[in-house]
Amino acid sequence: MAKFEIYQFPCLSDNYGVLLHDSETGVTASIDAPDEAAIRTALAKTGWTLTHILNTHHHHDHTGANDALKASSGCTIAGPKDEESKIPGIDVSLSNGDTYDFGGHKAQIISTPGHTLGHIVYHFADDGLLFAGDTLFPLGCGRVFEGTMEQMWSSMEKLTKLPPGTQVYCGHEYTQANANFAVTAEPDNQDLKVRAAEIEALRAKGQATVPTTIGAELRTNPFMRAGNAARFAETRTAKDNF
Ligand code: ZN
Ligand code: FE
Repeated sequence: MAKFEIYQFPCLSDNYGVLLHDSETGVTASIDAPDEAAIRTALAKTGWTLTHILNTHHHHDHTGANDALKASSGCTIAGPKDEESKIPGIDVSLSNGDTYDFGGHKAQIISTPGHTLGHIVYHFADDGLLFAGDTLFPLGCGRVFEGTMEQMWSSMEKLTKLPPGTQVYCGHEYTQANANFAVTAEPDNQDLKVRAAEIEALRAKGQATVPTTIGAELRTNPFMRAGNAARFAETRTAKDNF
Protein backbone atom coordinates (compact mmCIF):
# COMPACT_ATOMS: atom_id res chain seq x y z
CA MET A 1 0.00 0.00 0.00
CA ALA A 2 1.38 3.36 -1.08
CA LYS A 3 0.28 6.94 -0.63
CA PHE A 4 -2.72 7.67 -2.84
CA GLU A 5 -2.23 9.50 -6.10
CA ILE A 6 -5.23 11.60 -7.12
CA TYR A 7 -6.16 12.96 -10.53
CA GLN A 8 -9.07 15.39 -10.72
CA PHE A 9 -10.61 16.65 -13.97
CA PRO A 10 -13.64 18.75 -14.91
CA CYS A 11 -16.38 17.08 -16.99
CA LEU A 12 -20.01 17.55 -18.10
CA SER A 13 -21.12 21.12 -17.41
CA ASP A 14 -19.77 21.58 -13.87
CA ASN A 15 -18.92 18.12 -12.50
CA TYR A 16 -15.57 16.86 -11.28
CA GLY A 17 -14.25 13.43 -12.01
CA VAL A 18 -11.62 11.99 -9.69
CA LEU A 19 -9.33 9.01 -10.10
CA LEU A 20 -7.83 7.57 -6.93
CA HIS A 21 -4.80 5.31 -7.42
CA ASP A 22 -2.47 3.20 -5.31
CA SER A 23 0.69 2.36 -7.25
CA GLU A 24 1.72 -0.54 -5.01
CA THR A 25 -1.53 -2.51 -5.08
CA GLY A 26 -2.44 -1.25 -8.57
CA VAL A 27 -6.01 -0.29 -7.75
CA THR A 28 -7.70 2.69 -9.39
CA ALA A 29 -11.13 3.99 -8.44
CA SER A 30 -13.25 6.49 -10.23
CA ILE A 31 -15.08 8.48 -7.58
CA ASP A 32 -18.55 8.45 -9.08
CA ALA A 33 -18.88 7.98 -12.82
CA PRO A 34 -20.13 11.21 -14.36
CA ASP A 35 -18.79 11.03 -17.91
CA GLU A 36 -17.48 7.97 -19.73
CA ALA A 37 -15.38 9.81 -22.32
CA ALA A 38 -13.75 12.11 -19.78
CA ILE A 39 -12.94 9.20 -17.46
CA ARG A 40 -11.41 7.23 -20.33
CA THR A 41 -9.28 10.24 -21.26
CA ALA A 42 -8.16 10.58 -17.64
CA LEU A 43 -7.26 6.87 -17.48
CA ALA A 44 -5.26 7.16 -20.73
CA LYS A 45 -3.47 10.26 -19.46
CA THR A 46 -2.50 8.69 -16.13
CA GLY A 47 -1.86 5.20 -17.51
CA TRP A 48 -3.95 3.74 -14.68
CA THR A 49 -6.31 0.78 -15.12
CA LEU A 50 -9.81 1.14 -13.69
CA THR A 51 -10.59 -1.43 -10.99
CA HIS A 52 -13.37 0.26 -8.97
CA ILE A 53 -16.14 2.84 -9.06
CA LEU A 54 -17.10 4.34 -5.70
CA ASN A 55 -20.56 5.88 -6.02
CA THR A 56 -21.86 8.45 -3.54
CA HIS A 57 -25.49 8.64 -4.71
CA HIS A 58 -27.78 7.64 -7.55
CA HIS A 59 -28.03 10.86 -9.58
CA HIS A 60 -27.28 10.35 -13.26
CA ASP A 61 -24.38 12.82 -13.28
CA HIS A 62 -22.68 10.47 -10.74
CA THR A 63 -23.66 7.04 -12.12
CA GLY A 64 -24.22 7.63 -15.84
CA ALA A 65 -20.98 5.90 -16.88
CA ASN A 66 -21.27 2.92 -14.49
CA ASP A 67 -22.51 0.37 -17.03
CA ALA A 68 -20.19 1.32 -19.88
CA LEU A 69 -17.09 1.39 -17.67
CA LYS A 70 -17.98 -1.89 -16.01
CA ALA A 71 -18.61 -3.55 -19.37
CA SER A 72 -15.15 -2.66 -20.65
CA SER A 73 -13.08 -2.99 -17.46
CA GLY A 74 -14.96 -5.46 -15.26
CA CYS A 75 -14.49 -3.00 -12.41
CA THR A 76 -16.16 -3.47 -9.03
CA ILE A 77 -18.88 -0.94 -8.26
CA ALA A 78 -19.54 0.09 -4.67
CA GLY A 79 -22.34 2.39 -3.63
CA PRO A 80 -25.02 3.14 -1.06
CA LYS A 81 -27.14 0.18 0.08
CA ASP A 82 -30.13 2.47 0.52
CA GLU A 83 -30.02 3.31 -3.21
CA GLU A 84 -28.81 -0.03 -4.56
CA SER A 85 -31.81 -0.43 -6.89
CA LYS A 86 -30.87 2.87 -8.56
CA ILE A 87 -27.09 2.30 -8.88
CA PRO A 88 -26.37 0.57 -12.22
CA GLY A 89 -24.08 -2.46 -11.89
CA ILE A 90 -23.63 -2.22 -8.13
CA ASP A 91 -21.59 -5.10 -6.61
CA VAL A 92 -20.95 -3.89 -3.07
CA SER A 93 -23.66 -2.18 -1.01
CA LEU A 94 -22.42 0.07 1.77
CA SER A 95 -24.15 1.42 4.88
CA ASN A 96 -23.32 3.89 7.61
CA GLY A 97 -20.48 2.62 9.79
CA ASP A 98 -19.18 0.10 7.25
CA THR A 99 -15.47 0.01 6.48
CA TYR A 100 -14.61 -0.54 2.83
CA ASP A 101 -11.15 -1.86 1.99
CA PHE A 102 -9.84 -0.30 -1.20
CA GLY A 103 -6.38 -1.62 -2.04
CA GLY A 104 -5.48 -1.79 1.65
CA HIS A 105 -6.79 1.72 2.35
CA LYS A 106 -9.78 1.77 4.65
CA ALA A 107 -12.76 4.01 3.90
CA GLN A 108 -15.25 4.64 6.66
CA ILE A 109 -18.72 4.96 5.20
CA ILE A 110 -20.75 7.84 6.58
CA SER A 111 -24.37 8.13 5.51
CA THR A 112 -25.32 11.73 4.73
CA PRO A 113 -29.00 11.79 3.74
CA GLY A 114 -30.51 15.02 2.49
CA HIS A 115 -29.49 15.66 -1.12
CA THR A 116 -30.68 12.08 -1.72
CA LEU A 117 -31.99 9.74 0.97
CA GLY A 118 -29.21 7.18 0.62
CA HIS A 119 -26.22 9.47 -0.03
CA ILE A 120 -22.94 8.22 1.44
CA VAL A 121 -19.49 9.76 1.72
CA TYR A 122 -16.16 7.92 1.84
CA HIS A 123 -13.80 8.92 4.64
CA PHE A 124 -10.28 7.55 4.30
CA ALA A 125 -9.28 8.56 7.81
CA ASP A 126 -5.68 7.29 7.65
CA ASP A 127 -5.20 9.11 4.34
CA GLY A 128 -6.89 12.31 5.55
CA LEU A 129 -9.31 12.25 2.62
CA LEU A 130 -13.06 12.67 2.24
CA PHE A 131 -15.05 12.07 -0.95
CA ALA A 132 -18.19 14.05 -0.23
CA GLY A 133 -20.19 13.71 -3.46
CA ASP A 134 -22.98 16.29 -3.46
CA THR A 135 -23.21 16.68 0.34
CA LEU A 136 -20.48 19.27 1.00
CA PHE A 137 -19.02 21.80 -1.44
CA PRO A 138 -16.56 24.63 -0.87
CA LEU A 139 -18.67 27.35 0.81
CA GLY A 140 -21.81 25.36 0.07
CA CYS A 141 -23.75 22.15 0.39
CA GLY A 142 -25.97 20.05 -1.83
CA ARG A 143 -29.55 21.00 -2.47
CA VAL A 144 -31.98 19.14 -0.25
CA PHE A 145 -33.92 17.16 -2.87
CA GLU A 146 -35.08 13.96 -1.16
CA GLY A 147 -34.50 14.42 2.55
CA THR A 148 -35.57 16.98 5.12
CA MET A 149 -33.63 20.03 6.27
CA GLU A 150 -33.16 18.27 9.64
CA GLN A 151 -31.60 15.25 7.92
CA MET A 152 -29.29 17.41 5.83
CA TRP A 153 -28.21 19.38 8.90
CA SER A 154 -27.40 16.22 10.84
CA SER A 155 -25.39 15.04 7.81
CA MET A 156 -23.45 18.33 7.75
CA GLU A 157 -22.95 18.11 11.48
CA LYS A 158 -21.25 14.71 11.11
CA LEU A 159 -18.77 16.27 8.70
CA THR A 160 -17.99 19.14 11.11
CA LYS A 161 -16.53 16.51 13.48
CA LEU A 162 -13.92 15.19 11.03
CA PRO A 163 -10.29 16.29 11.51
CA PRO A 164 -9.81 19.87 10.20
CA GLY A 165 -6.88 18.79 8.02
CA THR A 166 -9.05 16.37 6.03
CA GLN A 167 -8.91 17.09 2.28
CA VAL A 168 -12.38 17.20 0.75
CA TYR A 169 -13.19 16.31 -2.84
CA CYS A 170 -16.71 16.82 -4.14
CA GLY A 171 -18.86 16.39 -7.22
CA HIS A 172 -19.09 19.90 -8.66
CA GLU A 173 -17.39 23.24 -9.19
CA TYR A 174 -20.07 25.52 -7.71
CA THR A 175 -17.71 27.59 -5.61
CA GLN A 176 -18.04 31.02 -7.21
CA ALA A 177 -21.83 30.98 -6.89
CA ASN A 178 -21.50 29.66 -3.34
CA ALA A 179 -19.06 32.44 -2.45
CA ASN A 180 -21.39 35.10 -3.85
CA PHE A 181 -24.08 33.87 -1.48
CA ALA A 182 -21.83 33.12 1.51
CA VAL A 183 -20.58 36.73 1.80
CA THR A 184 -24.20 37.87 2.12
CA ALA A 185 -24.93 35.21 4.77
CA GLU A 186 -21.87 36.13 6.87
CA PRO A 187 -20.94 39.71 5.97
CA ASP A 188 -18.64 40.08 9.01
CA ASN A 189 -16.60 36.91 8.50
CA GLN A 190 -13.06 38.13 7.64
CA ASP A 191 -11.75 34.64 6.76
CA LEU A 192 -14.63 34.34 4.32
CA LYS A 193 -13.82 37.71 2.71
CA VAL A 194 -10.23 36.63 2.12
CA ARG A 195 -11.32 33.28 0.76
CA ALA A 196 -13.95 34.78 -1.55
CA ALA A 197 -11.24 36.95 -3.10
CA GLU A 198 -8.98 33.91 -3.55
CA ILE A 199 -11.82 32.01 -5.21
CA GLU A 200 -12.54 34.85 -7.58
CA ALA A 201 -8.88 34.92 -8.63
CA LEU A 202 -8.73 31.14 -9.13
CA ARG A 203 -11.92 31.03 -11.20
CA ALA A 204 -10.80 34.01 -13.31
CA LYS A 205 -7.84 31.83 -14.31
CA GLY A 206 -10.11 28.82 -14.86
CA GLN A 207 -8.52 26.94 -11.96
CA ALA A 208 -10.22 24.46 -9.63
CA THR A 209 -11.26 25.48 -6.12
CA VAL A 210 -11.57 21.79 -5.16
CA PRO A 211 -10.25 20.12 -3.02
CA THR A 212 -10.96 22.08 0.10
CA THR A 213 -10.40 21.07 3.73
CA ILE A 214 -12.78 20.54 6.63
CA GLY A 215 -10.89 23.28 8.51
CA ALA A 216 -11.40 25.85 5.75
CA GLU A 217 -15.11 25.01 5.63
CA LEU A 218 -15.44 25.27 9.42
CA ARG A 219 -14.09 28.83 9.18
CA THR A 220 -16.01 30.01 6.12
CA ASN A 221 -18.92 27.76 5.03
CA PRO A 222 -22.26 29.17 6.33
CA PHE A 223 -23.90 25.73 6.07
CA MET A 224 -21.20 23.97 8.10
CA ARG A 225 -21.36 26.85 10.60
CA ALA A 226 -25.16 26.93 10.98
CA GLY A 227 -25.02 25.28 14.41
CA ASN A 228 -28.57 23.92 14.41
CA ALA A 229 -31.21 22.60 12.03
CA ALA A 230 -33.39 25.72 12.09
CA ARG A 231 -30.52 28.03 11.19
CA PHE A 232 -29.33 25.55 8.56
CA ALA A 233 -32.80 25.42 6.98
CA GLU A 234 -32.98 29.23 6.92
CA THR A 235 -29.59 29.44 5.21
CA ARG A 236 -30.36 26.67 2.70
CA THR A 237 -33.70 28.28 1.79
CA ALA A 238 -32.05 31.68 1.38
CA LYS A 239 -29.47 30.13 -0.99
CA ASP A 240 -32.19 28.36 -2.99
CA ASN A 241 -33.83 31.75 -3.55
CA PHE A 242 -30.61 33.74 -4.03
ZN1 ZN B 1 -26.51 14.91 -7.03
FE1 FE C 1 -24.32 16.04 -8.86
